[in-house]
Parts: sequence; structure tokens; C-alpha cells
Amino acid sequence: MAEILDGKATAAAIRAELKQHTESLVHNHGIIPGIAILLIGDNSASKLYVKSKEKACAEIGFNSIVIRKPADITEEEVLNIIDMWNNDKQVHGILVQLPLPKHIDEDKIIDAISPDKDVDGFHPISIGRMMLNQDTFLPCTPAGIMELIKRYKIETSGKHVVVVGRSNIVGRPITNMMSQKGEFANAIVTLTHSAAEDITYYTKQADIIVAAVGRAEMIRGEHIKEGAVIIDVGINYVDDDTRPKGYRVCGDCHFESCAEKASYITPVPGGIGPMTIAMLMMNTYKSAARLYK
Ligand code: NDP
Repeated sequence: MAEILDGKATAAAIRAELKQHTESLVHNHGIIPGIAILLIGDNSASKLYVKSKEKACAEIGFNSIVIRKPADITEEEVLNIIDMWNNDKQVHGILVQLPLPKHIDEDKIIDAISPDKDVDGFHPISIGRMMLNQDTFLPCTPAGIMELIKRYKIETSGKHVVVVGRSNIVGRPITNMMSQKGEFANAIVTLTHSAAEDITYYTKQADIIVAAVGRAEMIRGEHIKEGAVIIDVGINYVDDDTRPKGYRVCGDCHFESCAEKASYITPVPGGIGPMTIAMLMMNTYKSAARLYK
């Protein structure tokens, strides 16, 4: 039976560490890390994510500003808000909650955020620096995966990592980060996606699987190798009349059957989700702490 990679507990430990660092930063240098979040429209998942981010900020001792705008906001208004925050010394991190309404060009918005405040790690400059293994803001979900692997001391060097899903925010960056030279990386990485004729051909060979697809319980125990490490990024809402809310949340991997065969597994919820927010907090702290160096 697999050991649980407890993202919830690990993220809580990271937040406690950051709280201590923040207290010193405030006490010794008078700097309070500040994050500014723009939430557009009425997407309930986005609202929930923003709430979790605000809660984490309050717990650690960061300032947070949230501007909420209706879905018909113009692109120009969004750019003006970003420009205001780019020039605000109290703001160390800027985040525009995705997805955006269709009439707003996501690339243009991300490009407008100062790379010095790009705590989501989505700006082309941040991505370029990550590719070159230079110091930068790493995208939060893959950074959360790397941090969890590091804290559980999971051997990755020379291991075969199979990433399922090639998004710019998870699949591609984790492929890059896992293949970098260094401790808790140095892996042999295969990046798979919907063009794969049979995804199980790849998953069955994997020492470590990173699933970031968005398809409920697609990867099952029979699709994995004995002793594999399962990192499940997927967050899926499945109708379930037996639950008070009428749905349950699950990952891209079928937890019970995978846990029987795997050596380690992340639960959903309580795995990569909280780690993602913890990395956002780490990036924001790092942005603020640079100012006294
Ligand atoms: P996207 O929705 O942007 O992309 C999904 C990827 O999966 C695409 O590359 C797609 O291939 C691939 N794919 C789709 N179907 C299949 C299939 N049958 N076989 C193989 N590959 C397939 O992904 P995201 O990375 O944004 O999100 C993935 C999941 O992770 C979602 O459930 C999301 O909610 C969750 N998520 C969780 C986060 C967290 O904090 N825990 C953070 C970010 C995302 P193609 O490119 O060919 O279309």
C-alpha cells in the first residue's frame, strides 16, 4: 500500500516557516510582503482559489489586495490595473486569476505583468529563465511537485518520469524541471498528451507519473508499474448523489487501485493543490525579501 504524499501537511509546514521569515522581514526591515490579485467574472472554482490564497496570506502575515471585476471588463481596464500594481511599491506579487473571459488576450495580460512581480511564474521571461535553470519565479504547481518530492526525499535521478498533459502551467514546466541537472531532478522524462494512441503504453513504464489532464480517474492501478510514484495534479468534480454537495472531487488517477500498487501517491484533494498555494506564498516572500539584499 502506498505512502501518502501529504501535500496539505507539507503546505502547512511551509506556511509556518514563511510566517517566521515574514515576522523577521517586518521586524528587521519594515517590509510586509504584499500580493495583488485580480479576479474577473463569476467562475466558482476561481473564486474558491482566490479565497484560499487570501486565507494563506492572512495566516502568514502578508498583505493582500483583491480586485473583483465583472466578466465584461475591457482588456484596457485590465492592463491599467496591472500597470498600477507594477508601479506600487507595496505590491511584491501580481496575480491575474485564470481563466480569463474570451475577449481578453491571456498572453497579452501575462506579458504586461512585471517579471519582477510575476509570482505565478507564467511570464515568458520567468519561463525562459526556468528553462535555463536560472534563478526566477517558478510556476507554482510544478514547483509544488518538486518541493513535495524534495521533502519526502524521493529518488528521481535516472528515474523515468512520465508526464501526462502538456499545458504551459503544469505539463511542460514540470517536464523541464524534472529533467534539469541537480538533486531531486535529473530524471529521464517523457511528455505525453492526447495524440498518444495508448497512454498506458507510457504509464506502465513509469517510475514516476505526473498526471495533469483533467479527466477523472483516467489512470488506474492496472495502468501503472508496481512501486511507481503517483503525482496527481488533476482536480475533477464528479456528480455524486451520496455527498451532501451532490458531487465529489477526484484526481486524474483512480486513488484506490493506484494506491494498492504505488510506493507513494498524492491524494486529491490534499495533495498538489495546497502545495501550489504554498509555492505562490514562497514566490511572494522571495519577491519582497529581495528588496533588502
Ligand atoms: P489543460 O486542460 O490545459 O491540458 C490538459 C492536457 O491533457 C492537454 O495537454 C491534453 O492534450 C491532455 N489530454 C487530454 N486528454 C488526454 C488523454 N485522453 N490522454 C492524454 N492526454 C490528454 O491542463 P492543466 O494542466 O491546466 O490542468 C490539468 C488538470 O490539473 C485539471 O484537472 C486542472 O484542474 C488541474 N490543475 C490543478 C492544479 C493544482 O493546483 N492542483 C493547478 C493547475 C491545474 P492536448 O494538449 O493534446 O490537448
